Amino acid sequence: MDILISGASVAGPALAHWLRQSGHTITIVERAPELRDGGYAVDFRGEAHLTVLRRMGVLADVEREQTHMGALWSVNEAGKKLTAMPEDLFAGDVEILRGDLARILYEATGDGVTYVFGDCITSLTEEGDKVEVTFEQAPTRHFDLVIGADGVHSNVRALAFGPEEDYNHHLGLYCAVFTTANHLGLDHSGLTYSTPGKMVSSYSARDNAEARAVFWFASPPLDYDRRDVAQQRRLLSEAFAGVGWEAPRLLGEMGRAPDFYFDSISQIRMDRWSRGRVALLGDAAWCPSPLSGMGTGLAIVGAYVLAGELAAAGGDHRAAFARYERVMRDYADGCQKMGQGASKWMVPESRFMAWVMDKNYKVLPYLPWKKMMARSVRKTAEAVSLTDYDFTRPGGRAPR
Ligand SMILES: Cc1cc2nc3c(=O)[nH]c(=O)nc-3n(C[C@H](O)[C@H](O)[C@H](O)COP(=O)(O)OP(=O)(O)OC[C@H]3O[C@@H](n4cnc5c(N)ncnc54)[C@H](O)[C@@H]3O)c2cc1C
Repeated sequence: MDILISGASVAGPALAHWLRQSGHTITIVERAPELRDGGYAVDFRGEAHLTVLRRMGVLADVEREQTHMGALWSVNEAGKKLTAMPEDLFAGDVEILRGDLARILYEATGDGVTYVFGDCITSLTEEGDKVEVTFEQAPTRHFDLVIGADGVHSNVRALAFGPEEDYNHHLGLYCAVFTTANHLGLDHSGLTYSTPGKMVSSYSARDNAEARAVFWFASPPLDYDRRDVAQQRRLLSEAFAGVGWEAPRLLGEMGRAPDFYFDSISQIRMDRWSRGRVALLGDAAWCPSPLSGMGTGLAIVGAYVLAGELAAAGGDHRAAFARYERVMRDYADGCQKMGQGASKWMVPESRFMAWVMDKNYKVLPYLPWKKMMARSVRKTAEAVSLTDYDFTRPGGRAPR
């Protein structure tokens, strides 16, 4: 089949990798002018995530590029270290910068995948056994299937399922991330400072050669233009006016950062992820929010299942999309639950709550339920049963 994927970050290239194994012809259209580099750290946890990376043949590359992050400490305004976050609870098995992961996946798709950067779908019209697709730049084309892997603000979702407001649930926080110099001399570690409703962190990246500034703040939905970076920088500066520690210095670097990112923390909740010949994947379908720490693993597993079910159904997209939704539904719901309610402890809204959380982190390593909490996170990450698809044989679900 001739398949169009929108979005070249994690889910899109991962899906292209598997669809190529089944011999489909793949075009990926990405709005950014080139592969988006830099960005925050994302992680994989548990056997399901690692198994898919292993089957893709990229686990060794991901491990080679992993961040090797150590402790993340909370500090007071003077920079004095207070409490180390329990790493074994929060960190996954392998952590990597999202941009590095996207590059590895891009390289793994190899021949037979055509990337079109700097373009965007403008309309989708299903006509018989094809979808007519118009683009901002490229001429109109027809595809057998269109997959939206274009993130939380998915364009494909808006065109095929309706406006984002119908599906986007704001979790009460905003987040900004950008690259800075590692002026605190952090060695594979991070520091984080909180005031009521606000948190600012700096953590080292790329073997301490640089750092990432990460800002979180509590706010109801804000009205701003997602393409207006200057306006977003202003919003961030206003939110952190008067906040101490390193906040002013980090904000001072924001204008020079090549990779400024600003977004609301939200989840995408939908009753279905496909309509006709169009399906959604990754954050576009089920964004669990960064608070869950599961979005990247979910995207990788979802890509594997979607391509695998298409192979198993011998290209019958109706049967394949229905099976894909059945396999992924409970898994995605479970991961979303991890993100719900997390904003309150992630960014406490009062000094008292911040104090309680700090004490909590201090004693947690000695409490019997810490192991239970770690086990529960792992159980959620592994709560999907992975079929051993044979991508090269139509109808193939055979053991390798
Ligand atoms: C601050 C932060 C921290 C995070 N931490 C973690 C973590 O610790 N662990 C974890 O597992 N996950 C984490 N995540 C979530 C993770 O980044 C996502 O779940 C994951 O990247 C989803 O991949 P995706 O390919 O579905 O979407 P995305 O990575 O969002 O990619 C979507 C792609 O589509 C492109 N696009 C957008 N619109 C269009 C359009 N109209 N046309 C064409 N292309 C378009 C975008 O440019 C982008 O390349 C974090 C996210 C953030 C923001």
